[in-house]
Amino acid sequence: MGQIVLNVPDQIVKEMKQAYQSYLKPSPPGAIFSAKVNAITITGYKSGKVLFQGGNPEFEATKWEKHMVEPGDGTGTKNASKLTHNYYPDQALLSQSIIGSDEAGTGDYFGPITVAAVYAEAKQIDLLKELGVRDSKNLTDQSIQQIAKQMLLLNLPYSLVVLHNPKYNQLQQQGWTQGKMKALLHHTAISHVLDKLGTTKPAGIVIDQFCQPEVYLRHLKSENKQLPEQTYFMTKAESHSIAVAAASILARARFVQEMARLSKQVGFELPKGASAKVDQVAARLIKQHGMVKLKEFAKLHFANTTKARNYLN
Ligand code: MG
Repeated sequence: MGQIVLNVPDQIVKEMKQAYQSYLKPSPPGAIFSAKVNAITITGYKSGKVLFQGGNPEFEATKWEKHMVEPGDGTGTKNASKLTHNYYPDQALLSQSIIGSDEAGTGDYFGPITVAAVYAEAKQIDLLKELGVRDSKNLTDQSIQQIAKQMLLLNLPYSLVVLHNPKYNQLQQQGWTQGKMKALLHHTAISHVLDKLGTTKPAGIVIDQFCQPEVYLRHLKSENKQLPEQTYFMTKAESHSIAVAAASILARARFVQEMARLSKQVGFELPKGASAKVDQVAARLIKQHGMVKLKEFAKLHFANTTKARNYLN
């Protein structure tokens, strides 16, 4: 559950109470008002402090952000600016025809990073929901495969890019951060979809946010790339946008397939994640195939490599 605190003049707290007139509910002690809009609870206090709590408090907080005053305790500005940057999408955009993008495999020691971008038309949203498209974190790997298969039958314009381990390790050694790799992979996938769309212009592009937009822009700039028009960033976007959820499913499905392929190649199962079990399997891989082979299967700069070597000593 998210929370944003804004500090505003008390006149604005009164205006807010007016604005949320039809959503008011009993307010806690000391509060001027409390209201519930969709899943967001808004509570305004005499001090000028206003709390926005719930699934996605940004949707309401952004409306009032411009009235913010210097907070007494230093928390207000920080919380708000961190969550409500200039690239935050309007809620209305999320139900329009947009491109969504998301990735998988970034926290896993074994296997590639996969990034997918998908264009879903507004009229396809209900059907995609019916197919079970939702945040892939709430789905089993098996159902992700099934949903991905069904989704592809709809012929949605999409792109899937895979950064295999040898290339990942090479870029990492050249000084690329994982953030930079992700930024460029998202950019590549989105550009492919824009190319496929030709003259059709999406209402917007929503990227599941993994870093501050300024950082993303800096990565693009360092490789002479430009952010396409109408690009927005949102954390947990896969739970708010069907296009991003669809992208998260395609990315995850491909990651799972790649893991199965790599496991077959090495002759035993490569576990997902980066746990102690992963260290043991990495040690086994080094023992059987040598360090040279490890770089074809793993993200070498993860601490798991050192831990695996320690197992062997
Ligand atoms: Mg994501």
